[in-house]
Amino acid sequence: MALALENVSKHFGSLVAIRNLTLSFDVGSIYSIIGPNGAGKSTVVNMIAGSYSVTSGAIRLGTTELSRLPKHRIAQLGVARTYQNLRLFDGMTVLENLEVCFFPQSWISFLSGTKRLGKAERLDICHACLAEFHLSDVADVLAGDLPYGRQKILELARAFVTQAPIVLLDEPAAGLNHTETKDMAAMIAGLKRADRAIILVEHDMDMVMSISDRIDVLNYGELLCSGTPDVVRANERVQEAYLGT
Ligand code: ADP
Ligand code: MG
Repeated sequence: MALALENVSKHFGSLVAIRNLTLSFDVGSIYSIIGPNGAGKSTVVNMIAGSYSVTSGAIRLGTTELSRLPKHRIAQLGVARTYQNLRLFDGMTVLENLEVCFFPQSWISFLSGTKRLGKAERLDICHACLAEFHLSDVADVLAGDLPYGRQKILELARAFVTQAPIVLLDEPAAGLNHTETKDMAAMIAGLKRADRAIILVEHDMDMVMSISDRIDVLNYGELLCSGTPDVVRANERVQEAYLGT
């Protein structure tokens, strides 16, 4: 399943946050979107997920035009996301934070035409997810009581629990220390799958360079450069605009 942005622009009043952006993403790869603060990275994530409308252009998932749909429909179609700032349910347990990802019913049952997953089935999936993200020991702890680093991992787990084919991660390493960031990078790299596209917005360049198949560099809402980590690292315009070298 492929996701495509076709000539997408986003204006906030007189501010042009994204200008004529054309990009496509396929399952099987990890993509990173980088660029200075205010370049438009979160705006791209928000438009794909339907949190922001597009001013012009189109966003398509396969043949479905996402840019006309409300965000809960986009989630049901298989686009999952994390936010730049944590949005967990602090007063619910870690396990409950995963369970609620299945409401409204996820894309799986829509695509497969099956009935809603039963509670036992959902619980099995959530427990398997807790194990995969090393959160089993805190299943019954309130999310708000977890240390920050594990809250970021729980948020990551929430984006993956429904097995969505498109996963958008907005700064998963923000606020993490060096060791936690390395662990987060390894975890995300391990989540790459043939039936999933991971689109990462991230400031930590070691993480971006080490796990991305392609990097798209935004500057003032426009695509400055796109390519493998080696290509992006060697690009002079990127070095001037962003890497500061
Ligand atoms: P980045 O994530 O790359 O730091 P953003 O996508 O958050 O950048 O922002 C891009 C530009 O759009 C910035 O100038 C920002 O102030 C503006 N912007 C983002 N969201 C809004 C909004 N909801 N209302 C007005 N301006 C916004
Ligand atoms: Mg941002």
